Amino acid sequence: MQYPTSKLPNLGTTIFTEMSKMASDHQAINLSQGFPDFNGPPALLEGVGHHINKGANQYPPMIGIQPLREAIAAKITRHYGATVSADNEITITSGATEAIYSAITSVVEAGDEVIVLDPAFDCYVPAIELNGGVSVHIQLQPPLFTIDWSTISAAITPRTKLIILNSPHNPTGATYSAKDISALKDIVAGTDILLLSDDVYEHITYDNQQHHSFVSEPELFQRSFIVSSFGKTYHATGWKVGYCVAPAALSAEFRKVHQFVVFTTSTPFQWAIADYMKLDPEYGKTLGGFYQQKRDLFCESMASSRFTFTPSRGTYFQLMDYSAMSDMDDIEFCHWLTKEVGVAAIPISVFCQQPLEAKLVRFCFAKNDETLLEASDLLRQL
Ligand code: GLN
Repeated sequence: MQYPTSKLPNLGTTIFTEMSKMASDHQAINLSQGFPDFNGPPALLEGVGHHINKGANQYPPMIGIQPLREAIAAKITRHYGATVSADNEITITSGATEAIYSAITSVVEAGDEVIVLDPAFDCYVPAIELNGGVSVHIQLQPPLFTIDWSTISAAITPRTKLIILNSPHNPTGATYSAKDISALKDIVAGTDILLLSDDVYEHITYDNQQHHSFVSEPELFQRSFIVSSFGKTYHATGWKVGYCVAPAALSAEFRKVHQFVVFTTSTPFQWAIADYMKLDPEYGKTLGGFYQQKRDLFCESMASSRFTFTPSRGTYFQLMDYSAMSDMDDIEFCHWLTKEVGVAAIPISVFCQQPLEAKLVRFCFAKNDETLLEASDLLRQL
C-alpha cells in the first residue's frame, strides 16, 4: 500500500530526546535537555504516595481537580495581584506541551498566520502546522535577544491570528521588561489578535527581576492563553502537570480540545501538588534565589574558559558562545562536545528558521553543584 505523505515532512525526533540519548550512550554529563538531577520537596513527593494509597486513582474532573485550580488562582493573586476564576479560567493540563498544543488547536484555522520569535521552543511550529496555520518567524538577535517590536508590528497582516511569546525565554534566558508589555499593548490595541504566553519558567528570574504576567494586564489577558508548568517549579518534569489560564471564552474553546487530546491529567499528582501549594504558599518566591546560586556557580566556574556569555536573566539555561575555540556549526559542536569532551549541550540553530551567524549552545544548570563543577572542569580545558 501507499502510505500518506507526512503531515510534518521536515520534522525528526526532538533535539532534547536526541541529545539526552547521545549523552547517555557516551556517558557524558547531560547539560542538554532541561531537567533537574535532584528531587522536589520531600512533602510533595510523599503526597503522591499518600493520595494513591487513599484511593485517588480514578479519573479526576476533565478540567482538573477543584483544590488545585483554587490553589493556582490563589497563587496568581499572591504573585500578580490579579483575580481569575478557578472554575472558568484555569484548566489543568498534561504538561505545558499539551497546553500549548490545545491552545493553538483551539484557535488556529487553515491559513491563519501565527507570529513566533526565533529561537522558538520546538513544540510551537508543529502545532501551528498541524492546524494548517502559517508560522511567521521573527529572529531575535544575540547577545541579549530582546524583542524589536517594530519588526513584530511590521509582520502583522489581516491574517495574523496569534502571537506566541515566551518569558523567561527558553533557550536564551531573556525576560519581558515593562517596556515590552507596553509595546505589546500598543500593538494589539484595537485588533482581534490573540496571545499565547509560555510562562513555564515564571518563578525562575534573577537579579531581583519580577516576571511580568499578562494576567495583571486586562488589555492583554482578555486575549491570552497563559501556560505554566509544575514540572519546572517543583523539579518534577516527568510528572507532566501544567495548566492554562485564559479568559472564560477562550478557556471554553481550549477545554473542547483538551478533553479529546488527553481528557484529563493524572489524579494523585494533582492532589499532591494542591496540598503542597497550600502547605508552602511562598515556595515560588524562593525559586529564583535557589537557581541564581546555581547560575552564579556555573558562570563563575566558566569565567576562565574560552566560552563567552552574558549571565542568564531567567530560566535554568545559560547560552554560551564557542566561536573562540571552534569553526564547527552548533550541531556538529554539540555532537563533538558530547562524544569527545563528555558534556552534552543543545545547539541553538535548531530553534531558528534562518541560519544563525552566532555560534551558540545552551547548557542546563538545573543540576547538583558537583555536576556543574565537574562539567565546567571539562569545558575549561577546551
Ligand atoms: N523544556 C525542556 C528543554 O528545553 C525539554 C522538554 C522536552 O524534552 N520536550 O530542554
